[in-house]
Amino acid sequence: MSGRVGGAADVCVVGLGPTGRALSHRAIAAGLTVVAVDPRPERLWGPTYSCWIDELPEWVPRSAIASRIERPAVWTSRELRIERPYCVLSKQGLRDAMPLDDATVVAGRARIVQPHRVELADGTEVRAAAVFDTRGQGSPGKRRTASAHGIFVDEDIAAPMVAEGEGLMLDWRAENGAGADEPPSFLYAVPLGDGTVIFEETSLGLRGGMPQHELRRRTLNRLAAHGIRLKGDEPTEAAHYPLDDAPPKAGRGQVIPFGSRGGMMHPITGYCVADSLSQVDKAVAALQGGEDPIEAMWSREARLVYWMRMRGVYGLGRLTTAQSIAMFEAFFTRPPRQQRALLSSHDDYTALGAALFMTVATTYPFHWRYDLVGWTNRNRWVDWDYGRPGADTRGEGATVSPESDIRRHESSLGDF
Ligand SMILES: Cc1cc2nc3c(=O)[nH]c(=O)nc-3n(C[C@H](O)[C@H](O)[C@H](O)COP(=O)(O)OP(=O)(O)OC[C@H]3O[C@@H](n4cnc5c(N)ncnc54)[C@H](O)[C@@H]3O)c2cc1C
Repeated sequence: MSGRVGGAADVCVVGLGPTGRALSHRAIAAGLTVVAVDPRPERLWGPTYSCWIDELPEWVPRSAIASRIERPAVWTSRELRIERPYCVLSKQGLRDAMPLDDATVVAGRARIVQPHRVELADGTEVRAAAVFDTRGQGSPGKRRTASAHGIFVDEDIAAPMVAEGEGLMLDWRAENGAGADEPPSFLYAVPLGDGTVIFEETSLGLRGGMPQHELRRRTLNRLAAHGIRLKGDEPTEAAHYPLDDAPPKAGRGQVIPFGSRGGMMHPITGYCVADSLSQVDKAVAALQGGEDPIEAMWSREARLVYWMRMRGVYGLGRLTTAQSIAMFEAFFTRPPRQQRALLSSHDDYTALGAALFMTVATTYPFHWRYDLVGWTNRNRWVDWDYGRPGADTRGEGATVSPESDIRRHESSLGDF
């Protein structure tokens, strides 16, 4: 296909991941004409998305939720509970909740993305009053990274660790086989609502991230510690993406980056979907009101929140496992509003400031706070050598081949 797609639309959305699809759908619902571009618009998204239920905007129906966890658990030196319902989203349910029947959907890859014009690889041109760039993120390189290796396990096999309706948000128990002097990681394990539970060893904030083979080894060790042995052919998912893509500068007449491409990736949690969904109507309303959507989404308060969260991820990325446990214990005993301000609120800067200050101030022993704020050990894990895949025999639970069946969701994973 080449030539021009219809006349000029109100909006062109480049990229139909969850955030681009949400934006397209809500722009149509608001009465705008939309052209949406993606190389594979019909493809269901790869990753399993989760969020806090109260983050979801009202227009997202319950059918978008696949699994609900009322009081997720956090293991530090003891078990803590978060009194806040959490959910795993249904990929199909979320997609169905955002129909694009009234949009012009073009299957193609954008080559040139300009403020009012998009050119596809085959020469097709789309013109629009506003262009949103929702093409997702690039490779993290040596930047602060979220890395995870997830294994999908049948729920009856998973039951010794994750019972029905339960979920482990962060499991820092010393069961992953990593030494005290190795980069830290924790387990995230939740039921997906389809008869499986995902066990996902996760590392947040390390520069360059943690490789899949190391994360897998650690996941298997944790499962083995609870008597769970796998066959080795269980499906898996891989995550490896940057946490530090900054919000765009305000200013009319430019391409509007949105979603993970637009600074909405949470620098500490690595989540972006629910926050982006909650910002969609703000962006559309600004557009309709002749205002700058970037300014509407990125108030001073929201930018301050982003800045503070970046301080948080710097701290996170240089801690040892013991320090991480102490820090998370301090954080998860903060009042609910402070926890929310860090985990999800877009612009609650006063509560976030209090959360960060009090987390540092109540982390013991005292001298660990120097690492948290970066006075000592700033580059603790930089260029850490994780060895080669399969070369490490420390993982006693590693009964299956580490890399053979990883279903990669990130084309940029490379050696990771
Ligand atoms: C395994 C894994 C688990 C995750 N878990 C969570 C979670 O629980 N919660 C959460 O919030 N986040 C999670 N994330 C992060 C998640 O990936 C992002 O939050 C989310 O995908 C961002 O959505 P997006 O629409 O901004 O970008 P993407 O999902 O990356 O979508 C970008 C879209 O743009 C298209 N595109 C790219 N280039 C072009 C081009 N040139 N022209 C046209 N289209 C193009 C792509 O085909 C794609 O459809 C996870 C990530 C991974 C990998």
